[in-house]
Amino acid sequence: MSRVYNFSSGPAAINEEILKTIQHDMLDCMGSGMSILEMNHKSEFFGDMMDETSELLRELMHIGNDYEILYVNGGGYGQFSMVPMNLMNRNRKADYVDTDLWTKYAVIEAQKCGTVNVIASSAQAGYTYIPEIRREMISADADYLYMCTNNTASGSAYRPDKIPNSDRVPIVADMTSNFMSETYDINKFGLVFAAAQKNLGPAGVTVVIAKKTLIEQADEHRIPRIMCYKEYAKTKSTFSTPSTFAIYMIMLVLKWVKKQGGIPAMTQTNHQKASMLYDFIDNSTLYHNDVCREDRSIMNVVFTTGNDGLDACFSAEAAEHGLCNLSGYQGTGKLRAGIYNGVSVEAVNALVDFMKKFENEHKGENYV
Ligand code: PMP
Repeated sequence: MSRVYNFSSGPAAINEEILKTIQHDMLDCMGSGMSILEMNHKSEFFGDMMDETSELLRELMHIGNDYEILYVNGGGYGQFSMVPMNLMNRNRKADYVDTDLWTKYAVIEAQKCGTVNVIASSAQAGYTYIPEIRREMISADADYLYMCTNNTASGSAYRPDKIPNSDRVPIVADMTSNFMSETYDINKFGLVFAAAQKNLGPAGVTVVIAKKTLIEQADEHRIPRIMCYKEYAKTKSTFSTPSTFAIYMIMLVLKWVKKQGGIPAMTQTNHQKASMLYDFIDNSTLYHNDVCREDRSIMNVVFTTGNDGLDACFSAEAAEHGLCNLSGYQGTGKLRAGIYNGVSVEAVNALVDFMKKFENEHKGENYV
């Protein structure tokens, strides 16, 4: 079977060049004489690979030595618990901004550790916009302010220029679905995390970038070791076996990003892909997108015909044309295209062509 265009929201499309490298390396990983799947996580070879991965991340995202880079298992969901367990250590209070299902779930986990103050929410408006965070909204006694930079389910995002300057409390950001899609100033954050399965590689590892002075404050005697950032920092993330294959793959993805021209090149292509879709949707009589224009995600484009039956017909017919995984987040109905770094302009072009064809065929139909 030939490969399809994959618009999955995660695990998501990976550039074919990278997949071919993995195929080539499978029996003999970069001259080691063994597969990455067989390699000990404390071996010198793997240690060098991890160091190279972290160095590439530092270079591409301009991360200073005042930040640790950690590789943690347990996905994005794991971070919903690790963040409050480690950082709610002054007043056991934190401010959260609710912009999607994924912040709602994060709030539920944080409430198990302390007091959560939701300082802004767009839930009432169906998560169709991004609330502005003004300095005076942030509680002076919050241990941190939590936000999600890209809302995978509802298709909105905090553009880099909308990240507040918070000198009052550290900002924690879930960047799972737009990590390295455009340039965010890492110095604005106390901690950033991203589960790898969207822009970074396969499922199985979450990258955490954390200010050393912030994670040092946690009491390691109170936190289970597997949940304690400090323990990851002390042991270079190897006291428990990390997802070795996933980390190797992140290294390949980062090498690929560098070769393409780094994050500025990703930004340019991502804006190009997103504009192709949004411009088409805005000029169409069949499809629409409800998200406030300036808050639209450039990673997850959510759209609908306004009719559930027709939306279902769209994703089924698209799949027959080799355009896969276009249904919206479970239960939300609608349609959604994941257009992460690994999705080519060619794939988005093919999607727009299909949308045109579908619109012409179904225009004026009274679909029930
Ligand atoms: N945060 C965001 C923004 C997500 O999109 C997701 C999953 N799609 C998660 C967290 C949860 O990640 P995981 O499935 O790795 O637990």
